[in-house]
Amino acid sequence: MNLNTPVEKTPRVGPQYQKKLNRLGIKTVSDLLFHFPHRYEDFSNLTPIAEVKPDEKVCIQGKILEIQNIITRKRRFVLTKAEVEDESGAIKIIWFNRPYLVDSLKPGVSVCLAGKAALNKKYFPGVYLSSPAYEKISESEKKALIHTGGLIPVYPETEGLSSRWLRYILRPLLAKFKKTIKDPLPEAIKNENNLLPLNKALWQIHFPDSNDLANQARKRFSFQEIFFIQLNVLMEKLRLKQKQAIQIPLNLEITKDFVQSLPFKLTDAQRKSSWQILKDLEKPRPMNRLLEGDVGSGKTVIAVMAALNTAKAGFQTAFMAPTEILAEQHFKSISSALKGFGFKIGLLTRTNYKTANRKTTKEKLVEQIKNGKVDILIGTHALIQQDVKFKNLALVILDEQHRFGIEQRAKLCQQKNIVPHLLSMTATPIPRTLTLTIYGDLDLSILDELPKGRKKIITKLVRPKGRDKTYEFIRSEVKKGKQVFVICPRIEPRQTSNDWSEVAAVKEEYEKLSKKVFPKLKVRMLHGKLKSKEKQQVMKGFKSGKTNVLVSTSVVEVGIDIKNATIMIIEGAERFGLAQLHQFRGRIGRGKDQSYCFLFTSTAEIRTTRRLQALLKSNDGFELAEKDLAIRGPGDMFGVRQWGIPDLIMASLKDVELIERTRLHAKQVLQQDPNLKKHPLLADRIKQFGKTIHLE
Ligand code: ADP
Ligand code: MG
Repeated sequence: MNLNTPVEKTPRVGPQYQKKLNRLGIKTVSDLLFHFPHRYEDFSNLTPIAEVKPDEKVCIQGKILEIQNIITRKRRFVLTKAEVEDESGAIKIIWFNRPYLVDSLKPGVSVCLAGKAALNKKYFPGVYLSSPAYEKISESEKKALIHTGGLIPVYPETEGLSSRWLRYILRPLLAKFKKTIKDPLPEAIKNENNLLPLNKALWQIHFPDSNDLANQARKRFSFQEIFFIQLNVLMEKLRLKQKQAIQIPLNLEITKDFVQSLPFKLTDAQRKSSWQILKDLEKPRPMNRLLEGDVGSGKTVIAVMAALNTAKAGFQTAFMAPTEILAEQHFKSISSALKGFGFKIGLLTRTNYKTANRKTTKEKLVEQIKNGKVDILIGTHALIQQDVKFKNLALVILDEQHRFGIEQRAKLCQQKNIVPHLLSMTATPIPRTLTLTIYGDLDLSILDELPKGRKKIITKLVRPKGRDKTYEFIRSEVKKGKQVFVICPRIEPRQTSNDWSEVAAVKEEYEKLSKKVFPKLKVRMLHGKLKSKEKQQVMKGFKSGKTNVLVSTSVVEVGIDIKNATIMIIEGAERFGLAQLHQFRGRIGRGKDQSYCFLFTSTAEIRTTRRLQALLKSNDGFELAEKDLAIRGPGDMFGVRQWGIPDLIMASLKDVELIERTRLHAKQVLQQDPNLKKHPLLADRIKQFGKTIHLE
C-alpha cells in the first residue's frame, strides 16, 4: 500500500464507502490523509454531571441510561427525552424534533454531550441539557480522549460519512504512513518559517494534542498550499517567457482613426490600459494580461483596438465570449465599429457561422480561417472544441473568462512554438489577495473609471409585502417605454451552468408574470435550454423594444448591452453573491435615463439582509468584491475551488502577509531551480495542479 493506492484497497473501506468517498473527491490514500477536519470539538474540559449548573455551557461524558420519544399532545413536535449518567451523577437531556436519535443513542451507549444547561419546570423538575450537540464514543476513543487532551476532529458533513468513521479509518492509516511519507517542503523554508514537518503536521491536524499544535499544523498546511500555488503560477509565468509570440507593431495612424470614429471620448483609464496592451503586443514574448473593469467601463473598445492593430499587421485575432448571445452581440457591434477599415470579421458558435455579415457553412468558415481570410474571428468556446486552426493567430481575447492555458492557446495556431498573446477581460474585480495568488501569472490593467454621465442605479430591497407596489411602478415605467429584466436563481444547488432546475424556475416565473402580474405586457423568457435560434429571436425582440419584460436565467449575467432596459428585478436575491448581483445590475443603467434594480427577497435573516444592503450603498464593483470575499470567503469565487484547497485553510487565501511571504520563497526556489529538478516532490505536486486547472 502506498499513497496512490485507491481508497477501496485499504482495510475497512468497502465499495459502499468507496462511493461516498469518491463523491467527496477522495480517490487515493493520499486524498484521504489530506481530507482535513474543518474544526475540532473541545472535550477537554469535561464537567462532572453533578456539577452542572443552569445557564452554563458544559461538556459532559457519560452513558445513556434511557431514551424515548414523546409526541406532544398537540402533535406539533416530537420531544426526545433521555438520561445520562457518569460517576458523579445523572442528568436529563431533551432534544426537539430529532426522533431518529433513539435509534443511535441506545441505552448503554457512551456519549459526549456539549450544550447549555437549562432549568425550566415545563419539561423536567431539575437541571437538564437542552438540545446538546452529541458525539457517540467508543471505549478506545474514550481512552484516546484522555490521551489527546480532548480535541476531537470534526470533518465536513457528508451523507453517510461520519466524523467518527473517518477517525476510525484515519488513525491506523496515519500510523502506517507516519514514517514513510515524504515532506515536499524544503528544510530551509520549514526552519525559517517555523513549520512542523509533514508527518507531525498530518497527525496533529487530524488528532491534535492541544489547540496550539492544531494551530501549528494548520499554519504549516496553509503555508504549503499557498506556496504550491505561488510556485505554480510563477512557473507558468516563466514558461511563457520562454515562448515566442508574434510581434504586432503599434500602428498609430489606424489607432487614431479608430478612436476618432467613436461616438465618444475614451476615458483616461481606457487610454492607459490600451497603451499597456498595445505595448505588450509589440514584444516577442506572449502577453498574458487581465483587463479588469467594472461593468460598463468600456472594455470592448480596448479589445477592438488590439484586434485592429493585429489585423493591420496582417495577423489573426480570436475573440471568445462565454455565451452565444454575447458572441453574437460582439460580432454585430465590432463589425459595425470596424466597418470602414476593410477587415474580414467572422462569427463561429455551435450553430451559427457568419462572415462579413453573411451566413455561411461551418466548412467554408473553417477553411477561410485556415487560409487566413478571416482577420477577426468572434465566437464561443466552440472555437476550441471544433478544432479550428488559424493560419497566423497572434492574439486571443477572452471576454469574462480568466484563464486559458499555454497549451490551449498554442493549439489554435498552425505554427509550432508560437503562443498567441492573451488578453482576458473581466468585470469581476479580483481581490488583491487573489491577483497575488491564483491569478499571479497575469499582468493587470485596470479600468477604474466609468465613462462620464452615467446615472447611479437606484437599488432597493423588496420584501414579499412590497411586491405589488413594485409591480405597479414597473407598469407605469413600461408605459413610458422602458424595458425590464427579471432574473431567477436556480432552485436547487448548482450543478452545471444550464441546470434544469434553473430552467424550471424561469418557466414558473414566466407563467406567473405573463398570466397574472403583467397580462397586458409582452413577456418573454430566456434560458439555456432554448434552441439557439429561439434564443436569438427572444433577444431580437427585446433589443428592438417589442418585448417589455424578459424573464431570464443568469445568462444575461455578462455583457448584454441594451440602453432602454432600465429596470431589473432579481428574484431570490439572497441566493447570489454580491459580486454576481453587481454583475446582473450592470445590465441596466447603460443609457441616460434613471435605472432601478429591485432585489426581491423573502429571507429575514439578518446576515443576509446586511449582505444585500451593501448593494444598496455601493455601486463600486471592486468594493463589493472585497466585501464578498470578507463575508463568504474565497471558496466560491473565481474558480478558487479548482485548486483543491482544503476548506480548513481556505481562509489563509485572505492572509496578505502569508501570501507575500510564500511568493518570496517560491521566487527564491525557482531562481536556483527553475524546473524543480532538485525538488522532485514539489515538481510532482505542481504537475497535479496542471491536471485540474486550466480547463476553464
Ligand atoms: P464592459 O466593460 O462592461 O464590457 P462595454 O464595452 O460593453 O462595457 O461598454 C459599455 C457601453 O459603454 C457600450 O455601449 C460602449 O459603447 C460605451 N462606451 C465605452 N467607452 C465609452 C466612453 N469612453 N464613453 C462613453 N461610452 C462608452
Ligand atoms: Mg463586456
